[in-house]
Formats: sequence, C-alpha cells, structure tokens
Amino acid sequence: MTVTTNNIKKKKGANTTKKSPPLCPDCGSVLQKCLIQQNYAMVICPDEKCGYPFNQRRVQENLVYVDDSEVIPVAKQRLSDRE
Ligand SMILES: [Zn+2]
Repeated sequence: MTVTTNNIKKKKGANTTKKSPPLCPDCGSVLQKCLIQQNYAMVICPDEKCGYPFNQRRVQENLVYVDDSEVIPVAKQRLSDRE
C-alpha cells in the first residue's frame, strides 16, 4: 500500500483565514454591529444578560451622539420635499 500524502493542503491553509469576529470581552459572545446611522454602527453584545458595552463606563467612546437639533431639521426637510 502506497499512501501518497503529498501535502495536498499545502497552501490552502486552514479555514481560519476569515477575519475572526470580535468577541465580547465580558462573556465571549460574538459581537454584533448595530447600525445606528447610515454610516455609523455600534458594536454591541447580543447577549441581553451581558449588556456590553452598555455596562461599560466608557460606552460614550463607542457612541456617536446625534443631537435632536440635527435630526429634526433633516426630517422636516424630507417631509417638505414630498410636497
Ligand atoms: Zn457579552
């Protein structure tokens, strides 16, 4: 019996070539991106019991704050455009 194992998977590499998803530092769950604006997303933990990053004191660093004064004029303008 001649077993020819010529290292077929030579340069294929493992299936770990994908970008490993970010894990929650608290519970280890795979973090998900929550889109809060067209161009802005926040990385949150899907585990409700965990609540990352809302249990962090520095959560504000992960949030892009949009004031109502910025949103309302845009919304009104959109409404007026429909007329
Ligand atoms: Zn978590």
